[in-house]
Amino acid sequence: MVDLNKNLSFVSKTYLYPKIEQACLDFQKNNPNKKIYNLGVGDISLPLPSSVQEGIINGVKEMGTRPIGYGPPEGYLFLREKIQEVFYQNTPIAIKDIIITDGINGSICAIDTLLEKNHHTVAIMDPAYPLYRDLSTLSGRKIISLPLEEKNHFIPIPPKERVDFVYLCSPMNPTGTAMTRDALRMWVDWAKKHQALIFFDAAYNGFIRSSDVPKTIYEIEGAQDVAIEFCSFSKAFGFTGLRLGYTIIPQSIRGFLQKESVDFQSVWNIDQNIRENGISYPIQKGGYSALQPEGLKAAKEQLDKYLKSASSIKQTLENQGFCCFGGTDCPFVFCKIAGSSWDFFNKLLHEYQILTIPGQGFGKYGEGFVRLSGFLSPKDLPEVLEQLRKIEVITCAMN
Ligand code: PLP
Repeated sequence: MVDLNKNLSFVSKTYLYPKIEQACLDFQKNNPNKKIYNLGVGDISLPLPSSVQEGIINGVKEMGTRPIGYGPPEGYLFLREKIQEVFYQNTPIAIKDIIITDGINGSICAIDTLLEKNHHTVAIMDPAYPLYRDLSTLSGRKIISLPLEEKNHFIPIPPKERVDFVYLCSPMNPTGTAMTRDALRMWVDWAKKHQALIFFDAAYNGFIRSSDVPKTIYEIEGAQDVAIEFCSFSKAFGFTGLRLGYTIIPQSIRGFLQKESVDFQSVWNIDQNIRENGISYPIQKGGYSALQPEGLKAAKEQLDKYLKSASSIKQTLENQGFCCFGGTDCPFVFCKIAGSSWDFFNKLLHEYQILTIPGQGFGKYGEGFVRLSGFLSPKDLPEVLEQLRKIEVITCAMN
């Protein structure tokens, strides 16, 4: 028998989504005739646009006309060029900085393996997407929490302690809020001053509509010296089931390998060559189609629908007397509630059949909130809103 990573015991017990799933299964078992209104979902609910389907199918057909084997580990040039053209035109990011991946989760895990275990200190927002904390716990890192609080508009404040790197995310899951240009500039300046690295999760960048919210951290001057950005086709283009993303590792990002300064990207390439052999050709073709004018138009239409659902959910709850955040540049609404978020989650599930995610599941500072998601099919929206209007504001709400 082999010894397993002892840190696994600290994450597996607290893992959020299986707990929610179990609560749902238990409810359904005891109430087989009751419908659940699922506002907990963080996955897409609209079908893949036809132009993207065609891109993937044509990629497969091409493979029937000529052998297309292992692709370049950093991804095909046609897709990297297109990503640069569509997203990074007015930034210092060049094609060589762009690496095609199978999505953000895998890329963040891959970056983590490049960093020396145990002796790094990492700052993590609270509440936040659970991956950052779970992964850092698994790697035995010292974690400094960055509370996201209503009084600070859910903007993380740089820590007083020395940290080596920080996970930032904007727009954010679960708060649904986003960091303005000024807030991001504050972080870039901090990273420069303290020689720290920023790992910037931009999973929801496709939803940004506010003009003072940057779509990439590289809109901030100097960010290319301190930030690695993780992007995905998952939410912006409906690729959660296909798996495609891209990571930006600017050439100027460096680390020490045996005390010698090396560029991060070359180390990433060594690791990728050991670990995997690139992302499938048809999927990269699908990504390329998604970035053509027709694909971009279809994606925007879908994202607008999710945002419309989020803002209708927010509006409805506010009309009921709740205080809500997010829902403008992100499809999540963070609703302030009285008391424990797990109690409120259970109350909504058992009394109104509304499934949410308790804020506490995303971290200590998520307590007192639940997350509701706009990732629902537009046809279900009217029924969902009707159900939300039934919530007893007197017993539940808090302003
Ligand atoms: N980052 C955040 C903040 C997320 O909420 C999610 C998924 O919900 C991901 C990353 C996962 O992205 P991907 O599908 O590219 O792995």
